[in-house]
Amino acid sequence: EVFRRAVPAAGPGPADDPEALTAAARAHLRDRFLRARVAVTGANFLVAETGTLVLLESEGNARMCLTLPETLISVAGIDKVVPTWDDMEVFLQLLPRSSTGDRMTPYVSTWTGVTPDDGPRAFHLVLLDNGRTRALADEVGRAALRCIRCSACLNVCPVYERTGGRPYGPVHPGPIGAVLTPLTRGVESAADASLPYASTLCGACADVCPVKIDIPDLLVHLRGKVVESRRRRPVPTPEMALMRGLAWTLGDPRRHEAAVRRGARWARLLSRGGRIRRLPGLLGKWTEARDLPAPPAESFRGWWDRTRA
Ligand code: SF4
Repeated sequence: EVFRRAVPAAGPGPADDPEALTAAARAHLRDRFLRARVAVTGANFLVAETGTLVLLESEGNARMCLTLPETLISVAGIDKVVPTWDDMEVFLQLLPRSSTGDRMTPYVSTWTGVTPDDGPRAFHLVLLDNGRTRALADEVGRAALRCIRCSACLNVCPVYERTGGRPYGPVHPGPIGAVLTPLTRGVESAADASLPYASTLCGACADVCPVKIDIPDLLVHLRGKVVESRRRRPVPTPEMALMRGLAWTLGDPRRHEAAVRRGARWARLLSRGGRIRRLPGLLGKWTEARDLPAPPAESFRGWWDRTRA
């Protein structure tokens, strides 16, 4: 039904016939391509040796952009540059096999500027930085720029499998997105800062990555960056204030002992039937989903002093 609404040429035929749907989409898009004067494509790789763009796809729509409209604009990240065709040969094998398990993608297009009487008459290449230089400046994080967007890490990720792409924000989804988005945009916003934590660090992504990006290692590195950026804030977050208080208490044995004694007394007052069901203030988050056992009447230190002193 959705297809019929968006593609009038689909007609009233059976909605579950793949061949009919494909034919309708083809007729609809062919008409659009024949009328378009400007087309915009991306590119999977740029071969520096000859200044050639390379694009791999399954449907042939990019190929139509490359052949029919008068003007072609291609937008590609600066991380897509490979030095020579010898390098390209390796990536041409890696990308389809890691992406869809095919030996080769149905359409592989290459173009190097314009050719008289063939394809577009004007060609513009937009090289996109958009935070990539910032990522390159991070000596650990720069490994993520090796990504060839094969999506193998998305396919094996137990978190992405359940959440889908939307919670990762608008740039890249999945494990590599949880690395690339904070690397290119920074960790100042709460949404970007949360991405490095969207992982169990199980390592499945690193196992399948064809260019050997150690994604769990990068996620841990970025978690460190998130903590550093929070420390720089003039007003500490409640969590940071709590951790600072804890560091002060644990930094001295007498303070620690006094805190344990007083804390245990308060905790016992809050307990019912040997369990604490609700803690006050910020600590209440802990008891939203679990109970705490009440502390014993005598601490280990107290017992030690009483029996061994
Ligand atoms: S990080 Fe590796 S596995 Fe994930 S999309 Fe990039 S190249 Fe593929």
